[in-house]
Amino acid sequence: MGQHLNLKQRPHAVGARDRLETRLNDALMSLELTLDSIRHGLMLIGAQGEVRACNAIALRLLGLPVHLLQSPFKLSDVMPQLDRLGVTLGPDQDVVELETEPGRHIRIRATSAGHYGAAIVIEDVSARRNGKRAQHVAIAEYRSLFENAVCGIYRDQLDGTPVRCNPALAALNGYASEAEYISAVTGAHGAWYVEEGRRDEFRRLMQTEGRVKDFVSEVYRHKTRERIWITENAWFVRDADDAPLFIEGTIQDATERMTAMAAIARHANLDSLTGAASRFRFLHEIEAMTEQPLPGCALFSIDLDRFKEVNDILGHAAGDDVLRESARRLNALVDGNSLVARQGGDEFAILVPALRDRPGVEALAGSIATAMREPMAINGQNLIFGASIGATIFPDQAANAEELLVNADLALYHVKAAGRDGYRVFDGAMRAGMQRRKEIEQDLRLAIGRDELELFYQPIVESASGKVQGYEALMRWNHPKRGFLPPVEFIPVAEEAGLMTELGNWAIARACSQAIALPPHVQIAVNVSPSQFRSATIIAELRNALESSGLDPSRLILEVTETVILSSETIAGRVMDELLAMGVHLALDDFGTGYSSLSYLQRFAFNKVKIDRSFVSGMLEKPASLAIIRAILGIGQDLGIGVVAEGVETLAQADALRREGCQLLQGYYFGKPKPYIDVISDLAVAGLGQMQAEMSTRPDFARTG
Ligand code: C2E
Ligand code: CA
Ligand code: CA
Repeated sequence: MGQHLNLKQRPHAVGARDRLETRLNDALMSLELTLDSIRHGLMLIGAQGEVRACNAIALRLLGLPVHLLQSPFKLSDVMPQLDRLGVTLGPDQDVVELETEPGRHIRIRATSAGHYGAAIVIEDVSARRNGKRAQHVAIAEYRSLFENAVCGIYRDQLDGTPVRCNPALAALNGYASEAEYISAVTGAHGAWYVEEGRRDEFRRLMQTEGRVKDFVSEVYRHKTRERIWITENAWFVRDADDAPLFIEGTIQDATERMTAMAAIARHANLDSLTGAASRFRFLHEIEAMTEQPLPGCALFSIDLDRFKEVNDILGHAAGDDVLRESARRLNALVDGNSLVARQGGDEFAILVPALRDRPGVEALAGSIATAMREPMAINGQNLIFGASIGATIFPDQAANAEELLVNADLALYHVKAAGRDGYRVFDGAMRAGMQRRKEIEQDLRLAIGRDELELFYQPIVESASGKVQGYEALMRWNHPKRGFLPPVEFIPVAEEAGLMTELGNWAIARACSQAIALPPHVQIAVNVSPSQFRSATIIAELRNALESSGLDPSRLILEVTETVILSSETIAGRVMDELLAMGVHLALDDFGTGYSSLSYLQRFAFNKVKIDRSFVSGMLEKPASLAIIRAILGIGQDLGIGVVAEGVETLAQADALRREGCQLLQGYYFGKPKPYIDVISDLAVAGLGQMQAEMSTRPDFARTG
């Protein structure tokens, strides 16, 4: 596009000069084309400093306006701009290189042609110059990275002799500089890896894969021999024929990360409170154990009895002490191959490998129960907990880990349902029972609203006269499909489902309203479960029931078991004081079955104590049973507490008890629990025959007495 205006506008010649003119014009044309086609800027200067030829590139590179080409101009016209750029054109060949603007480099070569003037060639060298600079920058940057990188970078010979290393790698090995490192680490690293075989593994990976990626190992810091964790990456530097020349790589200190990971793993594997294995670890071990049927294992699910009460009443710190002590006791029972785990809350589990014989499982379960029954000194009190234990055996009783866990829980459930504190080994019938319990729970939630619950009454008679002194109210559930269900079928389910308080309060209210129709000398005993006894509502519910029925409080006896006291003497004492202040009577039920300290009778204001059926049933055969009955009767007499013998089934038992001085008797011999309506009609019949007060359920016994 360049134009050479000054040449083009020469005056025209005539005649012979015409031909010359034509040739000259041709020459000028081709010069013009040449000027346009070359990549460089060109400027021909005449002797007088006039610009005789010039292309547009020349002007553009010199930062001159292209419109200059439209009319003749002189070197002096553009001199100010050339001065500004710092172009100095010497007499002879002269080369200058200038940066006319950032990133734009030009090279100007002026060639003197004597008196014909001069030629100036202007070349754009930006690309070349910038490329060189980029290379410089790249090298500087690379060096900076190498020097300042946080991760260690090295180049080794194939035998491991160091060639280069950056400051970070030197520091990682305990050295101050590359030089120090390279002189210290001669030849191979020696025993660099802590784990034997790690070096061979590194070599194997380099050989088979050609590189090593994120290779984590524990190594010795070269100078100090201190152990650290590192992550390595390494690769070969190869020649043109792909043959390895060097090994290069990076090494990062992973100690912090590994320590953190170990802490997390520890945390995940251990229960921090008790030091037992965590549920996570436990499940993992069970999985592993059950993946192979041999050597098999036994699983024990352990639930502390009455733990919740301690936690609620004495506080979490006391609860924590109980859990720690429990874990300690469990650990003391098994060897190092077994795993004691805390499942959460007050649940523990033990996994014992290779234990598969039933007697062995029962023996260990028994030892666990015994150990957990030992009193614990908590908050200055000696508390007795006991535990419920469900055991099961793999692979004999379960195909996989999940079944094993379910079976252990089922066995545990049976222990709880039977009153806790003991153990059961799983058996197949338990599974069917579970389904039934689930249905019962669903139905039970509706039972009160549907008026399906009823109280049956069992007489308690005076041994001297055989006359009815009172009745014990016993709950029955008239289930729409299953008929009358005894408490053993639904009370454990109710306890488990948290329905017991509601059920119990219903029983108190119903008993009060029904008792009012019975003769005034007759007392009514109502059973109160530990959870109901503990609940904040019992006092209010009781007051309500007495007020709305109008029953004299002294006609109501609440039967509680010593479990109520075991959980917390403080709370139990407080509730009992309130009950007694209301005028309600208290009986200690099932006496002799638990830990039965006769001291409870002394410390707490019970009006009555009930000797458990198990002693009565054995009293004629077992001297021990008789001895216990005698002891209870003795202390009752000393303390002025009435004693009731439960489960009297025969005349012989009744006679014996009377001889021993037991004033009150209860059992099938005198009458089974029966519906309220039957009690009322009996009374009516009796009232027709004789005075109500003379009523006796067993005229023959009264006569023999
Ligand atoms: P418990 O308080 O020890 O009641 C006595 C149990 O022994 C009753 O069983 C009664 O039917 C049974 N029994 C009485 N005499 C004899 C006998 O001569 N031989 C035999 N073999 N058994 C006899 P039941 O009615 O099945 O009640 C079982 C347990 O359920 C009760 O034991 C009591 O702990 C609980 N229970 C019953 N009703 C209620 C209630 O309203 N509330 C609460 N919290 N518990 C209740
Ligand atoms: Ca009772
Ligand atoms: Ca009882």
